[in-house]
Amino acid sequence: MAEIRYDGQVVVVTGAGSGLGREYARFFASKGAKVVVNDLGGSVKGEGSNSSAADIVTSSINAAGGIAIANHDSVVNGERIIAAAIQAFGRIDILINNAGILRDITLKNMTDTDWDTVIDVHLTGTYRTTRAAWPFFRKQKYGRVVNTSSSSGLYGNFGQSNYAAAKLAIVGFTQTLAKEGAKYNIHANVIAPAAASRMTQTVWPPEMLDMYAPTWVVPLVGALVHTSCAENGALFEAAAGHFSKIRWQRSPGVMLRPDEKFGPDALLEKWEQVGNYKSVSTAERPRDVEERLQMAWMMEPNRPRGK
Ligand code: NAD
Repeated sequence: MAEIRYDGQVVVVTGAGSGLGREYARFFASKGAKVVVNDLGGSVKGEGSNSSAADIVTSSINAAGGIAIANHDSVVNGERIIAAAIQAFGRIDILINNAGILRDITLKNMTDTDWDTVIDVHLTGTYRTTRAAWPFFRKQKYGRVVNTSSSSGLYGNFGQSNYAAAKLAIVGFTQTLAKEGAKYNIHANVIAPAAASRMTQTVWPPEMLDMYAPTWVVPLVGALVHTSCAENGALFEAAAGHFSKIRWQRSPGVMLRPDEKFGPDALLEKWEQVGNYKSVSTAERPRDVEERLQMAWMMEPNRPRGK
């Protein structure tokens, strides 16, 4: 197979000043794309701003012979980020919605600011950049979007109801984009990554941080947006060199007939059947974030390690 490249394409990566976004930006630039390195440069909690995060990544890309510009807008003003791409490069082909913050706190202690700030950056930010890019994608009959969800959204995670809500909303948003974009050759997919970054460095033990380098997520993002990839509307997990696809599963369920006892009492009598996943499957079914990070593939002796 020929080397995968993105020559002539313009890629916007939000939150590309650190962590996963920085690796995506470097990768696309090294493979011929022109890259908009967006980053507001605030704290993990979404406080403040600093242009140096995007500037440092942009300079290192340009110094290595790539083509990149920095953008310092918040994704909440996503239309400005897309406008910067159009102004600098005249088009946009690929949008990686990656920017994110955390405001971890239990529901009991959640303030409206904790809730709104997290929903704004993740969900509204993803919506704003995508809405601004959409007319360009439609007009050129080509566009690729990768949105970023999280295990927290898929399984729930203690202290992250704001983040989990935003992240699962992004899955529904993406699946709808896929349906609306299909006839214009616009593909939208969503990933739930796990990687060492400033988001996880205070929570994970050092040996775990070593195993989950952000570069190990890059192949999935690169594959999903490549012209040769037909995926649209799908959800994937990526971490430490392992890649998998996620889907909902429905049990065969029960049918209550109106001619028999019909009500909650009848349903509770058959409750066992409601949640009975009869079909035998070898697919793994993690129940929470911890299980998701400790599935069988982690035990693989030949699993890639290090950065
Ligand atoms: P990170 O903190 O290193 O990177 C996030 C970047 O987004 C930062 O550089 C930050 O400045 C930028 N950003 C924050 N708010 C912004 C805004 N309003 N506008 C523009 N930029 C903004 O964290 P990361 O781990 O690389 O996270 C990247 C994405 O992956 C996030 O969406 C995160 O929720 C998601 N994610 C990460 C993990 C993980 O294990 N690291 C797990 C699940 C999901």
